[in-house]
Order: sequence, then structure tokens, then C-alpha cells
Amino acid sequence: MHDFKFKKNELYCEDVKVADVAKAVGTPFYLYSHNTLVDHLTKIQKAFAAVNPTVCFAMKSNGNLGVLKTLANYGAGFDIVSMGELKKAMKIGADPKKIVFASVGKTEEEIAIAIKTGILFFNVESVPELEEINRIAKKMGKVAPVALRINPDVAAATHNHITTGTLKNKFGIDLASTKKLLKEQKKFKNIKISGLHIHIGSQIVTSAPFIAAIKKVIEFLESLRSEGIHIGYLDIGGGMGIIYKDENPQTAQNYANAILPYLLKTGLKIVMEPGRFIVGNAGIFVTKVLYLKDNGFKKFLIVDGGMNDLIRPSLYGAYHEIVPVKTTTAKTVKADVVGPICESGDFLGKERDLPALKKGELLAVMSAGAYGYVMSSNYNVRCRVPEVLVKGKEFAVTKKRETYYDLLKGETVPGFLK
Ligand SMILES: *Cc1c(COP(=O)(O)O)cnc(C)c1O
Repeated sequence: MHDFKFKKNELYCEDVKVADVAKAVGTPFYLYSHNTLVDHLTKIQKAFAAVNPTVCFAMKSNGNLGVLKTLANYGAGFDIVSMGELKKAMKIGADPKKIVFASVGKTEEEIAIAIKTGILFFNVESVPELEEINRIAKKMGKVAPVALRINPDVAAATHNHITTGTLKNKFGIDLASTKKLLKEQKKFKNIKISGLHIHIGSQIVTSAPFIAAIKKVIEFLESLRSEGIHIGYLDIGGGMGIIYKDENPQTAQNYANAILPYLLKTGLKIVMEPGRFIVGNAGIFVTKVLYLKDNGFKKFLIVDGGMNDLIRPSLYGAYHEIVPVKTTTAKTVKADVVGPICESGDFLGKERDLPALKKGELLAVMSAGAYGYVMSSNYNVRCRVPEVLVKGKEFAVTKKRETYYDLLKGETVPGFLK
């Protein structure tokens, strides 16, 4: 479900006209729906109620403070991957006991601050990292809780760049090494191994890869138990797919029906790390038509938002539905929707059938809530766009549009060139 709907040919986010937000903040911008965020989070919480999971929203998919606060208000914790994300979690008053910290390259500074904050656990991705956490915790006189991220070596049937659970990927620890670590955990005096973690990839639309992974985990847990090794937590990661075009992804309930029996069998406390599922369809990217260009061969709708604002189409060939914010004409044209960036790869959509729009009209790029703003950049020296949160009839800018002052901040011409 999402709360972006047409009423009398005009797109609304909840009870707010998208065009009214454009009037207030200019274009382009990201727009998020509070109700949609809450709906997606509660769908997961309800479907998995039998194991009462700690749902740690994967902040890397969307780090907007309004989004984070909304989710925290409804009981979510956070899956973080950097100190910046930890700062954001603290800023909105997140419960440290609902924070898990992944990343293959945690630095000493990041590890120390996370230990001090008292997070639920680190998701550890390698033996050298475990040794490093142990060393830092020792220095601080603390015991750091960790979960070992295991690499179950299953293919996730998704885009190559977003599959993570095979031995070709940089993530996680292979099963044999994990077992060895668990047996030798007394060597790490300042570490408490609290659990195991898996995350096999992203935008996975069927339950089969999840089941394949969890079966491997169960087999592994049983072999650990037979050797007298016990852990407390199982973190099953994120990766649930959503609808961008014509996918038929499992619902939260389907997913729960498929894997709850396995999770219950483990008897472990469950952590989940959904990102895209919660926020993907809860956000849109709104952009304005600048020019309609016809080179005799092809038509281009040139808009003011580009690949620096939303890189998924360029980066992954990802499909986002594009719709006019106001449907004024029935006549359609087939056109590529392209941005102003000086790259052929700068497109939001190709060969789309759209109404014959005029300069100044607005387009909404749908399902842009996940891996949208967070992946934006200043490429071509463009200001990052604002992010706006809607709740019912209200809306607020939760992150301002950057200014040219922001863009030039910290830049100088070296003295020896003067
Ligand atoms: C990216 C990531 C997630 C979230 O993935 P989604 O596909 O957005 O649900 C969860 N856990 C880890 C470790 C990740 O790297």
C-alpha cells in the first residue's frame, strides 16, 4: 500500500497536493508519506508477531530524520553502517539497545563510539575486524557484543550488484571460520558473541532464497548445539523486494508464513533489517519539465532532476514509474525522461508513454524512497534537493535544499597559486 493517489487527475500524498509542495519548496524534491512508512513497518511487526522481532530499519536506504523519527515512534530500531548513521540515530533519540552496526570496514573511531553508546551488537564481517573490536573494547575496559555475519553462500536471484550472500561477495564470514571462532571465543576476552547475522541481498521478491539461507543457518545452529555452543540472537537481515513495475513480491505476511516455522524452531531472539520494504514505496521524487526536445529520431523530455539526484536508473538500470502530477491532456508521446547532467547515462526513464507535457509541468518518479536521496551527489556542482515529509494535511521540509554557499564550503584555491 502507499498513500500517493490521484484525486480528480491530481496527485496527492496523503491529504496534500504534490503540486502545493512544489509551489512551497521549488523543484526537484523528495516527498515521503508518514502513513505509508507506518503501514509498512506495522505490516512487518504484525506478520512476525509470533517471534516479536526487533525491527532495525536499514538506515542506509533512507537517512532522513523525519523518516527515522516516524519509524522510531512506532518501535523501530536501526541497522547502521557508519558513525554518521549512528549520529543520526542518536539525534532522533533512538534506543541504543535497538541498534545493530554492519559494514565491512568499521574504523577504530566508529567502533569506540558504538561501544560507548551501548548498541545491541556489531555485525562482524571478518576475523581481523573481530580482533580489532576485541582490542578496542579491551582498551576501553568493556565487553563488546557482536553477531557474526555468516556468508551462507546462496544466490539471491537479484541484480549482481545487490546480491551479497555468496562467497564471491566481500560480505560475511564462511561457515567453517565462523564455527572456529565460536569454539575459540574465549580467546576474545572483550567480546561477547551474541548471535549470528545473515543478509543475502536486496530487492528479493520470492521467499525461496530466504528459505534456502535460513535452512543453512538452522543446519549450522544444530551443528553448533551438538558441540555445546549456544547463542542468543539471529539477525535475518533485510532484502524484501517491492513493486517498481510489474514485480509480484511476497507480502510481509507471505514472507512470515514461509519462514516463521524456521525462526520459531531456532528458539532465538530475532532481529530484522528491512530497508527498501519500509521506505521504497513511501517516497517519490518530483521534478519539473524544462524542455521537450525532438531530434527527428527520438523525443526527450528534459527535466530538472538528474542522475545526481536519483541514480538508480543509471546505476542499476532500475525502473521507476513516472507519472504526471496533473493529468491535463489525453494525447501521449513516447519519450526518454532525461536530466540535465552531462552524461548519456543520465536518465530517469526510457521510452515512456507520457501525456504531451509542457514546460513547467511536474512529473513524479514513483517508488523513490529507498536508495534515492541517500545516494544523491553534487555531481555537476548541483545542490542536493530538499526532502519533505507529509503527515495527513501537514507537510514539513525535513532537509533543506542546499545552497551555493553549502557547495563551496571548505573549498579554497591553494596559496601557492595566488
Ligand atoms: C542494505 C542492507 C540491509 C537493507 O536491505 P534492503 O534490501 O533495503 O532491505 C539490511 N542489512 C544489511 C546488512 C544491509 O547491508
